[in-house]
Amino acid sequence: MKIALIAHDRKKDLMIQLCTAYQAILEKHQLFATGTTGLRIKEATGLDVHRFKSGPLGGDQQIGALVSENEIDIVIFLRDPLAAMPHEPDVTALIRLSDVYEIPLATNIGTAEVLLRGLDAGHVDWREFYHVDGDHSLLLD
Ligand code: PGA
Repeated sequence: MKIALIAHDRKKDLMIQLCTAYQAILEKHQLFATGTTGLRIKEATGLDVHRFKSGPLGGDQQIGALVSENEIDIVIFLRDPLAAMPHEPDVTALIRLSDVYEIPLATNIGTAEVLLRGLDAGHVDWREFYHVDGDHSLLLD
């Protein structure tokens, strides 16, 4: 599965804790992240993470584009609900696209843990169905 990992600045330590705790699960999957989040994860865990641009410079939009192309299966987006972001429209757009395409999305650590445990237990295997289809047409028709 392809997992996108994004954390706002005040949530980055939490993301590192999550990735450390669930490293055994995460290393079985393809990981994608916005620039700084990906760098922090790589440095802390050694996990192989494909890094896009930093969020405020377009990284959220790059991940959103992959979501719209059926190229992301899970989004873990530890967003900061207590800080104004210069790229708030991009944040909203990524969350919106995840909902448009019914991609499992966690926006806080509590849901993220449930999602990763569910992934490991096979509860996200239904995404394979959409991989075979190649696009989202089954979902949206
Ligand atoms: P960053 O971007 O990982 O480059 O900090 C995350 C964000 O702010 O959306």
